[in-house]
Amino acid sequence: LFAGPCDFIFASAKASDLPPAGPPEIAFAGRSNVGKSSLLNALTGRKTLARVSHTPGRTQQLNFFALGGAPGAERVRLVDMPGYGYAAVGKEKVANWSQSMRDYLKGRASLARVFVLIDGRRGVKPLDEEMFDLLDQSAVSYQIALTKHDELKAAERAAVVAATAQTLAKRPAAFPEVIFTSSHSGEGIGALRGAIARLLSE
Ligand code: GDP
Repeated sequence: LFAGPCDFIFASAKASDLPPAGPPEIAFAGRSNVGKSSLLNALTGRKTLARVSHTPGRTQQLNFFALGGAPGAERVRLVDMPGYGYAAVGKEKVANWSQSMRDYLKGRASLARVFVLIDGRRGVKPLDEEMFDLLDQSAVSYQIALTKHDELKAAERAAVVAATAQTLAKRPAAFPEVIFTSSHSGEGIGALRGAIARLLSE
């Protein structure tokens, strides 16, 4: 699945302007600067897939990529969602963006799972809890991937995994397994690929 190319399919700025639903979609969400672009690049082995953005919050659209086949014949689509929680984005824009995001999350039958990325150094913050609320309300399966594993000591890693798992325990749509990743060391990338492959074989 991850050996071949991962081609860009479509960019959507509005939920009313989505590509026709096809194969299962796996979306990636998280705060700006969480390491989402880097993780998508590591996951797919395409350095240019999601350009590491040095202007967080810049891309206010859903970007669709084809995996496991050329666009039109792909086995799965990866969906890069806009980062949230970037202070410099005007209020109105956040409102637009979150409405589009809400519409996509609520209305997309082919959306198989959302990976919510959480910075391993920071843990789950109130904004992330808002994202979890939205996903629970939308009844979309979601799973946490912690990022920047390489930045933490072993004891800190264990503590953030335990705290994250505890936060999820009371949430109806959350998948219990937490994956700790690093785009720099490659930690957890195999586990993330495995989780995606298992989803497709279900
Ligand atoms: P995005 O805004 O969520 O797309 O985040 P980026 O992928 O652009 O990364 C934001 C910042 O975090 C950049 O400075 C990256 O170099 C850094 N970063 C991303 N992934 C990792 C990681 O696995 N380990 C470390 N130490 N830093 C990372």
